[in-house]
Amino acid sequence: TNAATLEASAAEPVCTEPLQVLGRDVRVPLVTGGEVTYAALDYAASAPALQRVWDDVAAYAPYYGSVHRGAGYLSQLSTDLFENARRTVEEFLDCREGDQVIFTRSTTDSLNLLAQALPADCQVFVFETEHHASLLPWRDARVTYLNAPRTPDEAVRTLETALAARDPYGPALVCVTGASNVTGELWPVRELAAAAHAHGARIVLDAAQLAPHHPVSVQELDVDWVAFSGHKLYAPFGSGVLAGRADWLQEAEPYLAGGGASKAVARRTDGGVDVEWHSTAARHEAGSPNVIGAYSIASACKALAEAGFDQLVAREQELIGRVRTGLAEVPQVRVLSLFGDDAPRVGVISFVVDGWNSSHFAAALSAEYGIGVRDGLFCAHPLVRTLLGSDPQEQGECGAPEAAPGEKSLNAIRVSFGAGT
Ligand code: PLP
Repeated sequence: TNAATLEASAAEPVCTEPLQVLGRDVRVPLVTGGEVTYAALDYAASAPALQRVWDDVAAYAPYYGSVHRGAGYLSQLSTDLFENARRTVEEFLDCREGDQVIFTRSTTDSLNLLAQALPADCQVFVFETEHHASLLPWRDARVTYLNAPRTPDEAVRTLETALAARDPYGPALVCVTGASNVTGELWPVRELAAAAHAHGARIVLDAAQLAPHHPVSVQELDVDWVAFSGHKLYAPFGSGVLAGRADWLQEAEPYLAGGGASKAVARRTDGGVDVEWHSTAARHEAGSPNVIGAYSIASACKALAEAGFDQLVAREQELIGRVRTGLAEVPQVRVLSLFGDDAPRVGVISFVVDGWNSSHFAAALSAEYGIGVRDGLFCAHPLVRTLLGSDPQEQGECGAPEAAPGEKSLNAIRVSFGAGT
């Protein structure tokens, strides 16, 4: 009952403005002297936490204790909150009955977990346009990298052709991002999921950029798994989620071996040990879990669900329009886009400025105007290089080389925003 009371009081919205973020009044110095209120425009990397999430965590902090096997009052309370957080995420993602919600460290961690849970001889299909977190974890599997499509329809056709041609026609996984962290463009997730399933494959959705901006329904999109990160969803750093079908996860070796993942361990007469692993989410959550991380993700999910995405989306679309209109007025600016200007998108916009080195431009925005953006290749090197006009198959070395002032940009500038902007 007390756990329920705390849970209920922690769930009370404490702000009049439900999606208010921390740090809106932070003042920063300018090189020209004086200071200005900081404009945080790097949400796609890490969004500021919601005030509500911070307050919920502060309300819980004095009560936290060890989870799962602690018999004490606070341990039981923390266990309840941790397991309730799982249920909140399950609801937030509109999971199917029987789906598992596993708490991880991040989207990267979630996708690596899934990568090591693939059945033997599983083939993986991934567009070269993906963030490295979706592009790279599959190195031990047989991976087919699909060329960058220039329309959402082409993406579906490319996937269908590749899946149909796979040899042998065994288990397959498609990994696709819901919203690009470079262009903000939405990918045709439902159509890609239908194509995957029609060809006997499964699909995991990298929702790192989608979940903070749009409702994500596992059932409506008909995806098999979803991964996202707390720190992009207005919760603090250090926690993430992998949610979806239990079967492959239950059959796989635990992601980490250790306490919590093991149900029973016994010495064998031959001197070794026998281990019985859990078949629930705990199987992949060995070690002491990040309870505050899970609790803060759940708090953010509740805040977003209660506020409703409608107002967030409407405000964000207005801002996207303003930024794009402003950028269009500067002849030296080229906005990067894979699917074209009219593609639906979230509040993530990348561009280059003729005659400017992107890193210098981003540094100047901060130093002279107090505007925090990002520059580089955004952990999506093949995509950004394609958008900048170099051949992704002949891009040569990794890294984000700097162009000299006045030379063509070898990297880009990104502005991104969301609740609280
Ligand atoms: N996927 C996408 C589309 C991203 O934008 C990011 C982060 O920028 C990730 C995955 C990785 O997220 P994290 O760094 O939280 O693991």
